[in-house]
Amino acid sequence: MRERLSDRVAALRLQRESAHRTRIRRIVVRREGVRCKLQGSVRWLLNFCSNDYLGLSQHPRVLAALRDMDAAGSTASPLVCGHTVAHARLEEALCDWQQAPRALLFSSGHAANLAVLQALLGKGDACVQDRLNHASLIDGARLSGCDFRRYPHADAEGAARQLAAHPEGAALLASDGVFSMDGDLAPLRELAVVAKTHEATFYVDDAHGAGVLGEAGRGSIAAAGLSVADVPLRLVTFGKALGGAGAAVLGAADLVEHLLQTARGAIYSTALPPAQAAATQAAVALVRGDEGEALRARLRGNIARFREGAAARGLALLPSETAIQPLPAGDDARALGWSAALEARGYWVGAIRPPTVPEGGARLRITLSAAHAGGQIDGLLDALAESTGGQAPEGR
Ligand SMILES: *Cc1c(COP(=O)(O)O)cnc(C)c1O
Repeated sequence: MRERLSDRVAALRLQRESAHRTRIRRIVVRREGVRCKLQGSVRWLLNFCSNDYLGLSQHPRVLAALRDMDAAGSTASPLVCGHTVAHARLEEALCDWQQAPRALLFSSGHAANLAVLQALLGKGDACVQDRLNHASLIDGARLSGCDFRRYPHADAEGAARQLAAHPEGAALLASDGVFSMDGDLAPLRELAVVAKTHEATFYVDDAHGAGVLGEAGRGSIAAAGLSVADVPLRLVTFGKALGGAGAAVLGAADLVEHLLQTARGAIYSTALPPAQAAATQAAVALVRGDEGEALRARLRGNIARFREGAAARGLALLPSETAIQPLPAGDDARALGWSAALEARGYWVGAIRPPTVPEGGARLRITLSAAHAGGQIDGLLDALAESTGGQAPEGR
């Protein structure tokens, strides 16, 4: 007998509820930098869960570029009539910043990852990925129909073994530069050697590295001393440190041209709003300049302050040196309880649960910004100590 979808979703809903896995969206009514007001709540909260690492989403120069444009939308896909001078200038600015020959814009990082893997790989090819890579990289590999293999987190030897096990067909080695839920860095130098040895193309998703790491904020690839010769393709997203929305894939001219010709997510989708392209170009200029340098120094200071304060209070953070600072809870209900206790004290910190993280890996994901003041970080640390009991959870 045919199963009714409404019966199936009802059963799944009950399952989710009993496992503390139901997700809700909070409505942000107002936001001023790191302070925000949620619907139904009288007080302002201090935001420690956004990816606006440098505070650029409300920077006056970024907002001015956004307002300066005369159309709400691009009106078509890039290959029809949606590719404007604002888009062309942004691609040029991104190439110059990232020291890459070509760039191609996408409406989101998620769409870009699906498109890149589907455009480049097919049956008989191999895609080898870190086990903790972003969901969009995993989905892209599955969509492509290639042989998809994962290696243990940050294990370059594991990557080499997987590539060696698949010597025929083309191969792509893909890794996040900064892992989005753990905040640690991929061993990019080792992975680049592995990719070269096994003649695989190395693709780095630098969503959380671009803008915050490396000289001029170029990201994790530059910070590792690597270039397009080692990493022929990279993803830069605009929704994190750059404070906007959208993404670009940058790298070797022949590969990027192939994406322009075949990447479904770029061809069958309306181009970014021109105002978003202009705002992102303004954000790139800021990131590269003295102000970007100063913001990164502030962010590094905030990260150090947070980690020192956490150690002093016995908070068992994961070993991350980036703006993403996870506090393992293990149990889903415990992570939710911590998050609610923090909110009652005026701090907004998200509880991240499976399937976003592995089973048993529920955590608070605390994100720091250059826009946080030292006193706000100290306040969060005290609230964390009170809300979590200040002791390490038993197991992850
Ligand atoms: C956020 C993120 C993406 C998706 O980018 P969007 O532009 O938000 O769609 C891709 N990869 C990683 C590692 C991310 O953190």
